[in-house]
Amino acid sequence: MTYKNKEIGLIINVENALLSNIIDIGIQHYPNEFGGFLIGHYSNNQTQLNITDTILPNKYKATPYLFERDTIGIEDKLRNYYNENPQKYYVGEWHTHPNNLPIPSGTDISAITSITNHEDVSISNPVMLIIGYNEAKIELGFYVQFKNKLYRYE
Ligand SMILES: [Zn+2]
Repeated sequence: MTYKNKEIGLIINVENALLSNIIDIGIQHYPNEFGGFLIGHYSNNQTQLNITDTILPNKYKATPYLFERDTIGIEDKLRNYYNENPQKYYVGEWHTHPNNLPIPSGTDISAITSITNHEDVSISNPVMLIIGYNEAKIELGFYVQFKNKLYRYE
């Protein structure tokens, strides 16, 4: 799938197999939220972001309305992706909204802002993928943070 936003030049590509894998994993945790880290690489001219993999957290706290992941133990996995060709990086995060829409909550917005301002994370435009779902349907919300503003991709 390819996602675009009229105001932002960056195009995001996500492999379909990854998307369906993430959705499956997320739904298995119903009725709780669940999520993970997104891994990918930028094109040479920096106009496209290709999201290729996910890392699941080893430790997390989850309820039907909350998901908090810990980064404990993910450094090794990140290093392995970094050593691949092309080099892959942490590019953002995903999480589910069971029985809800893929609209960022106040907590989600402060989480992505703290990622942007975190000195150990070298990305200035993190991606946030929210998977809203209920019995009838699944809806994806793709967001990218640019200069302290969150933009939805379609
Ligand atoms: Zn959320």
